[in-house]
Amino acid sequence: MKHQFTDIESLLDEKMEGKTVKIRGWVYRKRTAGGMNFLIVRDATDVIQVAVKKDKVAEKDFASADKALIESAVEVEGIVKKDARAINGFEMQAVSFHVIHSANAFPVAKDNSPEFLLDIRHLWVRSREISAIMKVKSTMLEAVREHFKQEGYFETTPPIIVSGAVEGGSTLFEMNYFGKKAYLSQSAQLYLEALIFSLEKVYSITPSFRAEKSRTLRHLAEYWHVEAEAAYAELEDMLILEEGLISNMCQKAATDRAKELKFLGRDPAEMKKIEPPFDRIKYDEAVELVQVKNPAFKWGDDLGTEDERILTQERTLPVFVTHYPKHIKAFYMKEDPKNPKLVRCNDCLAPEGYGEIVGGSQREENVDKLIDRLKEEGADVAAYEWYLDLRRYGSVPHSGFGLGLERIVRWVCKLEHIRDTIPFPRVMNRSYP
Ligand code: ATP
Ligand code: MG
Repeated sequence: MKHQFTDIESLLDEKMEGKTVKIRGWVYRKRTAGGMNFLIVRDATDVIQVAVKKDKVAEKDFASADKALIESAVEVEGIVKKDARAINGFEMQAVSFHVIHSANAFPVAKDNSPEFLLDIRHLWVRSREISAIMKVKSTMLEAVREHFKQEGYFETTPPIIVSGAVEGGSTLFEMNYFGKKAYLSQSAQLYLEALIFSLEKVYSITPSFRAEKSRTLRHLAEYWHVEAEAAYAELEDMLILEEGLISNMCQKAATDRAKELKFLGRDPAEMKKIEPPFDRIKYDEAVELVQVKNPAFKWGDDLGTEDERILTQERTLPVFVTHYPKHIKAFYMKEDPKNPKLVRCNDCLAPEGYGEIVGGSQREENVDKLIDRLKEEGADVAAYEWYLDLRRYGSVPHSGFGLGLERIVRWVCKLEHIRDTIPFPRVMNRSYP
């Protein structure tokens, strides 16, 4: 690079007072007053007010600043001054102002409808809100990789095009695979299970696809799935791995992204407090707690969004719900030896009403039980032959889980809707842009 540009973030510091620096970025806001242009310029790191005065810059530079519309790409050289009136408390007094690209009239304005902002998502991703969320998400993904490395897990790359369902046929996206039916993966789990017989502890970060036919605040048709599987691990081992992972993700966001969290309305101190151990309650106990506020709830019902809200509204830490009834859970979950009506599974529910962020279980090792469960569900057993083989050649106890990355980001960033946790959300009525 020919020129030395300074990050805007590093200008917001008393030590920079009086220094002449160069920045480059995009015009974020603009106002004109008596021979002056005040432009808020943003780069990847932050925003700063730039004052372009008629008598301080060349005539053509002043004319450029005068003409520059919002989202024009600009380079500015100027002197940093403290100014309590300016956004972020600093101002740059321009000595030169150069437009790299002069933007057309930008379609985003105040009070745009959410639908309109989704139509122009390719431009709206530049907003400070979405930028802050993407930074938090990037940091949380870093924490995922750090945590698994520390725990001795291998990152693996399972397939996205698959031949069978993991989480039930109703949410499968079907595709034409050279004239045959194939599907987009709902979960990497079955493939991760295959990999533990050589690598023992594995994880993956992949997109998962679910044709969710109802509109909710927490379902996407395409989301990023953090999944782990470990040989010899029992349910209790997974709870420890999950709470450690979740805690590290929250801690790292609180430390490295405090500024962004505050901007989004989340006090980083709340995320600093997310530490193990999380409470563990059994489904039976959860039923009683839910019934206090939702008397219609019966043993055997699956916990819906509202029920999870009842269980988590008053909490500040996540909570594990374990030992759900077998008939509401997937075929691969291990039966509880103490009560064959239950399975050795866990959901981890985020506090403050957010609800499920992780689903996990110990896996059934008995091939005959697996076949019976598949038949009960009306599945095509032949499509699972390869999976059943895993129980025929050196099967060992094992467990795993899946964490919805956007679910945990939604909670940590304190967002209403999951769609803002992903730059280009895919939901039932939208695949553009
Ligand atoms: P829910 O009951 O909320 O639909 P689920 O039981 O179908 O969740 P799992 O099949 O256990 O979820 O998937 C593992 C994790 O993946 C969930 O705990 C959640 O964090 C995430 N997840 C599942 N479906 C979606 C979705 N449509 N959009 C975003 N994340 C999802
Ligand atoms: Mg679901």
